[in-house]
Amino acid sequence: MSLPWYRVVGREDVLFEHAAGLQLPILLKGPTGCGKTRFVRHMAAKLGRPLITVSCQEDLSAADLTGRYLLKGGDTVWQDGPVTRAVREGAVLYLDEFVEARPDVLTLLHPLTDDRRILTIERLAEEVPAIDGFQVVVSYNPGYQRAARALKESTRQRFVALNFSYPPADVEAEIVAHESGCDVEIAAQLVAVGQATRTLRTQGLKEGASTRLIVYAAQLHGSGLSLEAACDATLAQALSDDPDIEQAIRDLIRTRLG
Ligand code: ADP
Repeated sequence: MSLPWYRVVGREDVLFEHAAGLQLPILLKGPTGCGKTRFVRHMAAKLGRPLITVSCQEDLSAADLTGRYLLKGGDTVWQDGPVTRAVREGAVLYLDEFVEARPDVLTLLHPLTDDRRILTIERLAEEVPAIDGFQVVVSYNPGYQRAARALKESTRQRFVALNFSYPPADVEAEIVAHESGCDVEIAAQLVAVGQATRTLRTQGLKEGASTRLIVYAAQLHGSGLSLEAACDATLAQALSDDPDIEQAIRDLIRTRLG
């Protein structure tokens, strides 16, 4: 298994390794596109564990996660869902957009996120103990959180929490250069623009540019677009539909890129 590249920003890797050694569930909090998924992929590979990823959303039920009966050539066969596979394989189970998880999904996960480490599959009337290595990692973006979707205390208090945020400028430039193949000087210019968009909250922008969008800008520039055109597509137009905010970002791009 090749190791997905991840630039450690603080001591998140050390904390993850300790929690993994103790099989404790982990909660990653942070804005979109700041490296949470890449971090989990990197850590799972480093620990030599399979990774199973699930995006939580309103339509995803506990039954979808445990498994279902399928018709195969006239026979009815059981097929394990992602959580059952993770429990049987000793995988890292990564659930992103975790605040979107339905109550039945939370009920399913609770006995897997404490010392019982048991999965109940109602349709099979079976209890499956999680094998060693199985670990639950969840993530969410507190910035997007609607009041109705706040994590319940009884859920939140099952996790070791790790806060993520966008890295300092020099580290973010290193990431952008690595991911896009551009020069560090170009990456630093794009990061300066991206970081400036994160200060536009007062003007109504919900969230500034993610590291992911800055990487896209660098890739577009690498493929031949001017810096300004690359920034316009990724940092102005992608960030907002509000013409005033788009204009504010364009002004900012022009002044920053000189
Ligand atoms: P999210 O926080 O939404 O899960 P991702 O992990 O998908 O974000 O990160 C988006 C992109 O940003 C990644 O594909 C990668 O290119 C880049 N990235 C962000 N932070 C890092 C990091 N610390 N190391 C390596 N790549 C990073």
